[in-house]
Amino acid sequence: RLLTGRALAQDVWSIFNVANLPEDCINLGQGYMNFAPPKWVTDAAEEALRTVAPNHYAHPKGRLRLREAIAKHYGPSFGRELNVETEIQVSSGANEGQYSVFTAFLEQGDEVIMFEPYFDQYLPSITFNGGTPVYVPLHPNESKEGRLTGDDWTIDFDELRRAMSPRTKMIIVNTPHNPVGKVFTREELEKIAALAEEFNLLVMADEVYDCLVYDDREHVRIANLPGMWDRTVTVGSAGKAFAATGWRIGWLIGPPSIIRPSLAACTRIVFSSNSPLQEASAVGLEQARERGYFENQIREYDERRAVLIDAFERLGMKYTLPQGSYFILLDISSLKIPEDYQFPQMLDGRGQDFKACWFIACEIGVSSIPVSEFYCEEHCSIGEKYARFGFCKDVETLRLAGERLQSLK
Ligand code: GLN
Repeated sequence: RLLTGRALAQDVWSIFNVANLPEDCINLGQGYMNFAPPKWVTDAAEEALRTVAPNHYAHPKGRLRLREAIAKHYGPSFGRELNVETEIQVSSGANEGQYSVFTAFLEQGDEVIMFEPYFDQYLPSITFNGGTPVYVPLHPNESKEGRLTGDDWTIDFDELRRAMSPRTKMIIVNTPHNPVGKVFTREELEKIAALAEEFNLLVMADEVYDCLVYDDREHVRIANLPGMWDRTVTVGSAGKAFAATGWRIGWLIGPPSIIRPSLAACTRIVFSSNSPLQEASAVGLEQARERGYFENQIREYDERRAVLIDAFERLGMKYTLPQGSYFILLDISSLKIPEDYQFPQMLDGRGQDFKACWFIACEIGVSSIPVSEFYCEEHCSIGEKYARFGFCKDVETLRLAGERLQSLK
């Protein structure tokens, strides 16, 4: 049986799903937008639906138009011309792309290192493919006065080295990071890269939030560090880029030695991905630059981030200022919940953060995601102190959420 332990338990997204929460609860939980993709992108989707070819199977590699758009858009940021036939793989969301890489490369008992908190899907994606996750926590500098930033969540490189074994096959590096909002520094990535070389690891660079980096912070691609292209696969997402998380279009970028086996896996898992929405994603990437789309999107998210930060500042609770992504961690360890408060059965055995998030959702009317879900059992207590709030919502909604949260005082 593959579905055991954490993978068998009800997932956090369905526990904190709007369907389980009061109707007027503001959803800052699961990371999706309450606004539509840009009209010129949805127009392209409609156009694709009216056209015969994109209504039929795409090539398993992805529609050529999308691969060309990916090559053109991403090529400069990788400092190389990307080969559309051998270095790009379109997937059914970033998640399935990652799954395909695990299927392609993991053998029974191979170890995959991931930093905690980790995006929860990595775990079953690894174990379903015979792999063994190995957890290395980021360490929040909790003794710091006032708010933390992503930089205050640090890697203990001795600990990372100790996590390596002869079975270590891969390391996942998620930057900008979900849920911390950390953007890994060049120095951190160089140290990770050095270990990857020393232990001959594949690197999965989950960079689905690469279009959401704030304060002119530099997003460094680990694939671009010396010697790293050949061992790195970089994961991207149309859902994050174009506010279209339900489209399930993502992509892998990497050397033919990684893309070819991943394509084989992807072909046997989904055969090919949603065709008309690939066409629309292609139009999105083709026109983004001349429309100033991504710069504008960062400005909008910056404003959204400011609204939630302002609410947390007024609240006087500690939080982590994200440098990228659209999540903010709030330290909820001081929250007092009435002792006789009744929680639904599905929270039995879950951490204090699940209870705090449930309480905040039901009594304050704002949903969030408990962060212990992103930790192994042993390290759960680090995550239990935090709730993740998403700011991928319009400003008005975030303001209202911010006002409601003031009653936590
Ligand atoms: N990536 C999104 C988040 O972190 C949604 C994940 C999911 O629903 N599986 O909120």
